[in-house]
Amino acid sequence: MECKEVNSKLIFYLEKELLKDEMLQMENHLSNCSSCSDSLVLLQSALGIIEKEKTLQANPYFVSKTMNRFKEEQRKANQPVFTRLLMPVLVSMLFVLAIGSGIFMGSNFATDTENIQQSNLIDPYFNEIDNETIELFFLNDGYHE
Ligand SMILES: [Zn+2]
Repeated sequence: MECKEVNSKLIFYLEKELLKDEMLQMENHLSNCSSCSDSLVLLQSALGIIEKEKTLQANPYFVSKTMNRFKEEQRKANQPVFTRLLMPVLVSMLFVLAIGSGIFMGSNFATDTENIQQSNLIDPYFNEIDNETIELFFLNDGYHE
């Protein structure tokens, strides 16, 4: 048996799914070839990890569930403060910017470009907040009055 063949059959050898004859050939080769027996050890440990993960399946599920709940709680806790305090600040910042660009509009091209650059800096930030919190924004009821 060649190394290539042995390597391709290692998994079946471990699962004892080979013919008796092949099993013997594999055993023979593995006891004589260090590179193939190394591969066997590697494969064994990889399978060992998989087996371990199977038995621990309930645990990571619990952890991720707990983490999700924790994040959810955090979000609930942060959201109202965030929208109530930060949104007005951003809105007034944009307002000031709009007035600023209105005053300087047409008077100086350089100032104009500067203003455009400034609004480009703030716009993505503002859009990002919009995208993430639009539902909560309306759910929160904070701005309906
Ligand atoms: Zn070999």
